[in-house]
Amino acid sequence: MNLLVLGPQGSGKGTQAKRIADDHGIPHVATGDIFRAAVEEGTELGKRVEPILASGELVPDDLTIALIRERLSAPDAANGFVLDGFPRTLAQAEALDEMLAGIERGLDAILFFDLSDAIATERIHRRAVEEGRADDTPEAIARRLAIYHEQTEPIVERYRATGKLVPLHADRSIGEVAAEISEALELLGEGATA
Ligand code: AMP
Repeated sequence: MNLLVLGPQGSGKGTQAKRIADDHGIPHVATGDIFRAAVEEGTELGKRVEPILASGELVPDDLTIALIRERLSAPDAANGFVLDGFPRTLAQAEALDEMLAGIERGLDAILFFDLSDAIATERIHRRAVEEGRADDTPEAIARRLAIYHEQTEPIVERYRATGKLVPLHADRSIGEVAAEISEALELLGEGATA
């Protein structure tokens, strides 16, 4: 199963993506996690992306696309994946389409975590205090949300047109959103065998 989770920071998509990946025995591929790990390890990639993450801007498309291309070709992604945080720009979405077409695979569903800016901002500020993420400064949080609207939201419309977009009410509890997702994925499974 090839899934994508899409939504603003604070929408709970990471939490749900991890759970789905565990349930289905497929990897959770989160670009933000990969970049943060590289920063912590002090690798070349880490040194390059550290100031970008701190500012809330996006890592350049070419770098991010190359990273995902390599990650999705790893053996553990052969049976599927849950992509989280990628694509974030139309160029990344086009590159992903090409990548998947090249290996004769497609996305089964795009889970769209719909959330108001007010709730997203409140949740991220709370997480920043609780987890103390170094890149969660108030300026970076505001910048990421602005970039989400400018660059990532157009992708939602692109995927809506495929008929595979699953809109979710992301302002509900973790359990309620999980139930909504399970129901949608079950329907998808029935559709596949019908
Ligand atoms: P996230 O944890 O997904 O919110 O990502 C944290 C930060 O990593 C973002 O604010 C960006 O600076 C960078 N990042 C993550 N995914 C991408 C992507 N697909 N394209 C560009 N930059 C990204």
